[in-house]
Amino acid sequence: MAYDVDFLVIGAGSGGVRAARIAANHGAKVAVVEDTYLGGTCVNVGCVPKKFLVRAGRYAQDFRDAAGYGWKIGKTGFDWPTLIARKDREIARLNGIYGSLLEGAGVRIVRGHASLMDANRVVIAGGEEISAAKILIATGGQPVLPAIAGIEHAITSDQAFQLANRPERIIILGGGYIAVEFAGIFQGLGAAVTLVHRGELFLRGFDDDIRQHLAREMTKKGVDLRFHTTITALTKISTGIAVQFSDGRMIETDQVMVATGRQPRIDGLGLEKASVVVDDAGRIAVNDQYQTNVPSIYAVGDVIDRMALTPVAIREGHFVADQLFGARVGKALDYNHIATAVFSTPEIATIGLTEQQARADTIRQYQLYRTEFRPMLFTLADRDERALMKLIVAKDSRQVVGAHMIGQDAGEIIQGLAIAVTMGATKEDFDRTMAIHPTIAEEFVTLKTAIDL
Ligand code: NDP
Repeated sequence: MAYDVDFLVIGAGSGGVRAARIAANHGAKVAVVEDTYLGGTCVNVGCVPKKFLVRAGRYAQDFRDAAGYGWKIGKTGFDWPTLIARKDREIARLNGIYGSLLEGAGVRIVRGHASLMDANRVVIAGGEEISAAKILIATGGQPVLPAIAGIEHAITSDQAFQLANRPERIIILGGGYIAVEFAGIFQGLGAAVTLVHRGELFLRGFDDDIRQHLAREMTKKGVDLRFHTTITALTKISTGIAVQFSDGRMIETDQVMVATGRQPRIDGLGLEKASVVVDDAGRIAVNDQYQTNVPSIYAVGDVIDRMALTPVAIREGHFVADQLFGARVGKALDYNHIATAVFSTPEIATIGLTEQQARADTIRQYQLYRTEFRPMLFTLADRDERALMKLIVAKDSRQVVGAHMIGQDAGEIIQGLAIAVTMGATKEDFDRTMAIHPTIAEEFVTLKTAIDL
């Protein structure tokens, strides 16, 4: 049977764009359907604008530090609309680049909402039907809104990027990446920030030491952390929003942002018409080739049940394109060595086993190497901020199986270290690596004291 295209990709985000481009480069006839913006969450309302806002927020500390180095900084001021306008301009440029990358590869871009009609056909809102030998669903995710009375008065991170003004007071609900990152952003930009989390500490799953360290540092910077607490109701009042907490207290604020997780974006996708199976959380079930239960339909990125991280979606999309239209690589992706950073202030980056995971392992034994210190450059600045770095080493093989850091440039540092950890470097490989002095990162190659876990 002849199809209109070989490969139809639904969603022009990180995973979809990569898959479409690579498939086209392999010679496939490809179309990509997108109903909002090119580049998806990461480029438009995620990683990219978030990092600009994080950078903006950190200038406040930099200005304070500068005085310790002899600089006389005049009165500083911050203009939120300028930041947002410049961020929007850069994103528009990136949207354009994504468009030209796709067009340059010969991919047809179709604007509109796609809905599956069956295993090989989609209909675009407005009427056009496109048939395809293979379909890739890469529609990503969207914020979840918890069931709280008055939740319509809250914003999510999507709207936080487009606020007309920086709020004077903001309450952030959640304890994941987005909640702690935005708490740092708004605190840095001068807002009074309260972070409310239902658990005993935020960033569940990260190394406990690192989580506690972040809580201490954020508190020092003035963020009001409220654990074991949640929001039960929001009421609009003339001076802002009245926020009712589970412990009975009530606070008034200008803005409430919820960051209580994200869910797959599958509304109106017609999955039922093509009989595509989803799990209880609405995530599309795929095998290790990213194939759904319907052989012609694949899915990658935040819409599936793996890891909601941009580089992961890109690799998954690339893999599918190679498998279907290029030299079949065969080997499934390895999810064991995925480094990740939380752009909190100070930032966290990590790869591999946490101390708690190592302690819980009843088969292998591990050692911990740990250091905590005030980085040299903060001394002149009188900056009261400490860094924490940890290595987890397997006792039998001496392999470094975990590396964790909280402190300045943690993301940049762990990205380099992640290569060594992925390659299976041993503690002795780390030790024979000459230090670059003076750096923060050199601590990773000079750690001496082992603690048996
Ligand atoms: P996460 O899933 O990371 O965290 C959700 C948080 O909300 C958790 O602390 C969770 O608590 C809490 N929560 C969930 N439901 C409720 C509820 N009903 N009431 C109160 N609290 C609730 O979600 P995020 O939205 O922060 O981020 C989504 C994903 O996006 C991340 O997991 C990550 O994969 C990706 N991301 C990556 C970034 C990066 O790489 N730097 C940056 C931003 C996002 P509990 O722990 O108790 O379940």
